[in-house]
Amino acid sequence: MDVRCQRRMPRIESHLLRSVAVLRILIVEDEAKVAKAVSEGLAAERYEVRIAATGEEGFFLLSQESFDLVLLDLMLPRRDGLEILTALRKRGVETPVLVLTAKDTIEERVQGLDCGADDYLVKPFAFAELLARIRALLRRGRMDQVLKLEHEDLVMDLVARTVARGALALDLTAKEFEILEYLLRRQRTVVSREMLARDVWQVTARATPLDNVIDVTIARVRRKVDDPFPTKLIHTIRGVGFLLGPLPR
Ligand code: CA
Repeated sequence: MDVRCQRRMPRIESHLLRSVAVLRILIVEDEAKVAKAVSEGLAAERYEVRIAATGEEGFFLLSQESFDLVLLDLMLPRRDGLEILTALRKRGVETPVLVLTAKDTIEERVQGLDCGADDYLVKPFAFAELLARIRALLRRGRMDQVLKLEHEDLVMDLVARTVARGALALDLTAKEFEILEYLLRRQRTVVSREMLARDVWQVTARATPLDNVIDVTIARVRRKVDDPFPTKLIHTIRGVGFLLGPLPR
């Protein structure tokens, strides 16, 4: 068998796995009864659900973990949903947001959409309608995701398998491409060497030689992605791993 074909196999499999992976939804809702009911309904539809009871908690979870969709209540204690939404979009979090609210005036809907909401559902709503809107948003999100990954002026075309930063086309090896794709899919979150070893190299046992290979490959990716530009996109977080995105303040 052609060695190159053999090497390509895990890649294809990991793409397939990713496409059937469980979709994660974050519910930001202070009314425990509503949060529980929606969460149970979504879990029954095989979504993985997390609940945040305040906007701060929601904001924190979104900066720590990756979600495919957020259900955001507008009437929250302290910082309301619109403030949270504005802050998220400002930070570049592009996760689709479906606003759930008891407010029902045209002004409020427009304001919600202007702040970066992707859709709007007024309480009380039929669960079937919520599901339909969630599916529509996820479909939209997934289609974008499959074709292109972006961060700032860095664009990865997953179909053509090309990478460019601004007007400059970057020439990456297959492994470098894979690492950069991994970082782009988890942008703004820290990726550890352990994660790279497990998911990119498919090696679960930690070993110093592999850590060295990872460091060398990351260094090559950074040279290509960041060296020609004043704004650096990839950072080393000492003792933890690597981050594609702005350094946390
Ligand atoms: Ca509420």
